[in-house]
Amino acid sequence: MGTMSVAVIGAGAAGLVTAHELVSAGLGVTVFEQSRRDGGLWVYEKRVESDPLGQRPRERIHGSLYASLRANLPRDLMAFEDYTFDSAGGGQDDWPRYPGHVQILEYLERFSVDAGIRPHIRFGRRVERICPDADGWRVDGEAFDAVAICNGHFSEPLVPDLPGLEDFRGEALHSHNYRQPEPFSEKRVLVLGASVSGAELARELAAVADSVYFSGRTFRDPLAVKWRHDRIKRCPPVAKFLAGGVLLSDGRRIDGVDAILFCTGYHYRFPFLAPGVVDVRNNRVRGLYRQLLAIDRPTLAFIGLPFRIVPFPLFQRQARWFAYALARRFALPTRLARRREHALEIRALRQAGVAERHFHRLDEDQFDYLNGLARQCGDAPLPAWFRELWREHRANVVTHPGAYHDLPLTARGPSRVN
Ligand code: FAD
Repeated sequence: MGTMSVAVIGAGAAGLVTAHELVSAGLGVTVFEQSRRDGGLWVYEKRVESDPLGQRPRERIHGSLYASLRANLPRDLMAFEDYTFDSAGGGQDDWPRYPGHVQILEYLERFSVDAGIRPHIRFGRRVERICPDADGWRVDGEAFDAVAICNGHFSEPLVPDLPGLEDFRGEALHSHNYRQPEPFSEKRVLVLGASVSGAELARELAAVADSVYFSGRTFRDPLAVKWRHDRIKRCPPVAKFLAGGVLLSDGRRIDGVDAILFCTGYHYRFPFLAPGVVDVRNNRVRGLYRQLLAIDRPTLAFIGLPFRIVPFPLFQRQARWFAYALARRFALPTRLARRREHALEIRALRQAGVAERHFHRLDEDQFDYLNGLARQCGDAPLPAWFRELWREHRANVVTHPGAYHDLPLTARGPSRVN
């Protein structure tokens, strides 16, 4: 049998480390990247879409970064295995513990070069069509044995379907198209969606805006419960948009709103997959074994779907698992066993009252998840510092949401950090 060929869709962090793991397992790799650079969403785009809510996929700009964005994780935690975020790997020793977006891009670009991935990448190649074929897949007509989808899930803005948005006369934009606070100076702004980006952008806007309202369901979110800021008015979810403001779910109105910033997240979207290959509903990609492998077509994997995780290490462990499964370094359970395990997992989530749109949210479960993948690969479990550092970081985010970037952390990984 010749070398198995694998198409990797996207050259962001997930695509780069997937290519690396596949090559390391002895498989043939071709990476398709629609843009002219690798690094994915860490390539800062000054441009924004002409449709500020970002609902027109044909005009899609991939980047979602805003100018001031810094990592929301310490860099020793973010690093790929054996590729530290310091001068021994892809970074510099004097970089802040929570690097800026320019530094994260630099790290990924160095990884791409040092791991020898660049020659495998076809830049400027937007994949339009992936179809199952007798023995594998056709990617824009070209035959491959397997496909790893690494197209990211932070470029398709999700705007909640609430009544009256068409009546709102002010400016409405999604955080995907937010770059800088200055256009909001002296304005009354409503930030909608109590997510990490909502909290960060509400704070950034509070420095320049006339007033900032921060609306969302936060009470169940451990990251948001202790959230306080004297210049930001917290308010419940929006029930309806009005011409000059909003009606809140508790019946109160906020009038004179100049701008609404939707920090309401993103959709999973795979416009290039032939109909019937996967089913995405309620923001869940259905029929996946271990959150990554198409149960009924085990040569198709989705790397990086889970959220509330430490992304780069998760991408790497998923990618290695897929590479080893393809290279038959462990025996993949039968289709029936995969289906059974999946059904049990979904039943447990339902019984725990987890909303379907949160099925890919791992949080604390990420450690068991990663260790489960590692076990099948014959790898060691996560080192103790990894979980300790994540917990310490997370505790700082909860207690000091606006200042955690500058707080010291006692746990540390192998990267040299200050
Ligand atoms: P992306 O980086 O989105 O890459 C996907 C790639 O696929 C892109 O290059 C795109 O051009 C390409 N592509 C898409 N469709 C096609 C197609 N049809 N054909 C060819 N190419 C295609 N993570 C952290 O670890 N630390 C952080 O501090 C952090 N902060 C974040 C802040 C923001 C605002 C956001 C949105 C995310 C943040 N993340 C952070 C999470 C982030 O998702 C990961 O760090 C990671 O970079 C995502 O990598 P990816 O490869 O999955 O996706």
